[in-house]
Amino acid sequence: MATNRTFTMIKPDAANAGNAGAILKMIEEAGFRIVAIKKTKLSAETAGKFYEVHKERGFYGELCAYMSSGAIFPAILEKENAVEDFRKLIGATDPKKAEAGTIRAIFATSIEANAVHGSDSDENAAIEGAFFFAETERF
Ligand code: ATP
Ligand code: MG
Repeated sequence: MATNRTFTMIKPDAANAGNAGAILKMIEEAGFRIVAIKKTKLSAETAGKFYEVHKERGFYGELCAYMSSGAIFPAILEKENAVEDFRKLIGATDPKKAEAGTIRAIFATSIEANAVHGSDSDENAAIEGAFFFAETERF
């Protein structure tokens, strides 16, 4: 298990509700180091590009509208086994199915407004991190 990186976004529902600090605390306490972070807002077009892999899914239009509805906090995180461990920390996509104590179980309000994003592979973590951050913004 080499030290590696994943990518996350605190989504508009959690950012709007003032839960970014509490979520980042859980992330750091779980052993993740913040390599890069910022507050920004996606346009519908940029959200569409980020979620292009989901283009054929029924919820794509709504997802892009939701993800561009408010500010987000994208971040690159570092830890041993980062991708898998972060998916465990955030819990299932649908908060009703997320294990107790996970970020989504605590903060998500619906399957769409599910508080955080987590990359699903090392390859996608690298692509998604590069979508938001230059090498000079990573420490
Ligand atoms: P993420 O990629 O954001 O970490 P995930 O990998 O758990 O989430 P995906 O299947 O990649 O889930 O879906 C991407 C996002 O699309 C979800 O996080 C959620 O916001 C939204 N989404 C997924 N399924 C649905 C659905 N059935 N209805 C509405 N929105 C959905
Ligand atoms: Mg996903």
